[in-house]
Amino acid sequence: MERKSGSLCFQVASLFLLFLTALVAAKGQNPDRPRTLDVKHYAIHISFDRDKKIVYGDTTVELTPLSAPLNSVDLDAIGLKFSKVTMSPRESPLTYRTSDGQIAITLDRSYSSGENISLRFNYSITDPKKGVYFIDAEKAANKFQHPAQIWTQNEPEDGRYWFPSFDFPSDKATSEEFITVQKGEVAVGNGRLIDNVQNADGTVTYHYRMNVPHSTYLTSFVVGDFIKLSDKYKDIPLGFYAYADRRRVAGIAFSRTKEMMEDFEVLTGISFPFEKYDQAMVAGFQDFDGMENVTATTLADTSVLFAEYPFGKPIVENLVSHELAHSWFGDMVTCKNWSELWLNEGFATFMEAAFREKAYGRANYIQTLIQDRDEFITDDAVSKNRHPLRNLSAKADNSLFDVTTYQKGGVVLHMLRETVGDTAFWKGVNSYLSRHKFDSVVSSDLQSAMEEASGQKLQWFFDQWVYAAGYPKLEVTWTNDPAPGGLKITVNQAQKSDGMTPAAFQFPLDVTLLTESGPVLQTLKITKRVESFTINEARPVKSIEIDKSEKILLKSVKIK
Ligand SMILES: [Zn+2]
Repeated sequence: MERKSGSLCFQVASLFLLFLTALVAAKGQNPDRPRTLDVKHYAIHISFDRDKKIVYGDTTVELTPLSAPLNSVDLDAIGLKFSKVTMSPRESPLTYRTSDGQIAITLDRSYSSGENISLRFNYSITDPKKGVYFIDAEKAANKFQHPAQIWTQNEPEDGRYWFPSFDFPSDKATSEEFITVQKGEVAVGNGRLIDNVQNADGTVTYHYRMNVPHSTYLTSFVVGDFIKLSDKYKDIPLGFYAYADRRRVAGIAFSRTKEMMEDFEVLTGISFPFEKYDQAMVAGFQDFDGMENVTATTLADTSVLFAEYPFGKPIVENLVSHELAHSWFGDMVTCKNWSELWLNEGFATFMEAAFREKAYGRANYIQTLIQDRDEFITDDAVSKNRHPLRNLSAKADNSLFDVTTYQKGGVVLHMLRETVGDTAFWKGVNSYLSRHKFDSVVSSDLQSAMEEASGQKLQWFFDQWVYAAGYPKLEVTWTNDPAPGGLKITVNQAQKSDGMTPAAFQFPLDVTLLTESGPVLQTLKITKRVESFTINEARPVKSIEIDKSEKILLKSVKIK
């Protein structure tokens, strides 16, 4: 997912919202959700009554018990009015009750591990509050025009508003969608389009199938009167669905997708992991710029339109590369629970910069990360919801998508890269992705992969940057007596130690001494809150520069 970042107004509004949504969640809660079953496959049939804003669902959930014997099945479902629940394939009726956002089904007998259970649900949703969004056409000449459309947004846990599911990221299943739309409309779903069948009543049913398991929050559809721009990367079909009168700007926004795919394959050493990659622009996407629905990214039309203007080019490139990067980081390898969301969003944010490094060079990469760093430092000063990257107070709502999880996440990955070196970093990324392909991950999985790739112990790094909050606020003083050994540098870490923020961060700190005969680089090993160093430099030092190549990007520095 990508938060809206286009306007200063929005950023100020976001800060205000953070005040309002400050969390008071208990620290140390178990972020995992226990499971008694494993969903194997969802087959979702969906049709609509536009005028009444009704979604008709007919969903079959195939699952197997994890803890036998299994006598009943609880699935998440909010606002779904069930007319029938049966056991497939014989369609024998089952008893069920709904309460507290769940449907509890009593099975016809006890089932043991390894047995397959297939449950079919017929239901409708009238005027859905979340999950599915009906958007009216906008035709007014003085407004931004768009066709009528229906689209979904699940992350973090709104899939349950349109299909019964185990709606938590650790459960991965294959999926199939049968989406019935009006003549002249298209439906974009997850995975390969199997067929689109003309029905007797003039409607058309699009059948999509995802053959690799994915989390519930990545299931999606977009329906509307769109044109499709097509391309191909190797044997992967690429599509960009746009409004007919926005073909040109859609083409610009779409244009670098192939190049990004190639760059990400080269950097990660992992081929694009799915059968196709579609992107669709939609109206009314509210607080977000984009969502990495598996193989079928959704993009806010207002954000795509930035591609029209020179100032908007990097915004759209970052958006497209961010959502594409999620195919590897988030969709293929997924945070096991919401406290680990930074593994999705920090990586997607970091990969925006990694694409810029490939396309425009190192200075552009660093500049992108400096902006992320500055955004985090600004937020950290005022946020009432400060938390470590691994966020044990995470709550499954939009407060998840904050500056720490995105911007700090990206910057910490840059610092990890600087700590272990370029070769070990990308080798570590490759084994992290390969080892957990189509599975879910926690921060220690990244730590293990990086330790093995680099041969370094990294507990200290993860303790201070991932499992703690804040950043070092450095106050550097220096004195320069002309005698040898007269150069003294004192580094004071002035951040407030508040139980969440370390009193002393550890890191190697580059100091460049500017002498009459040129710069001299010294590296100071910082391990304490206040530390003084004596340096033997015979030549007079005119001034000093701290961490010129931005290895320890997440810090503030005052030189006195
Ligand atoms: Zn994202």
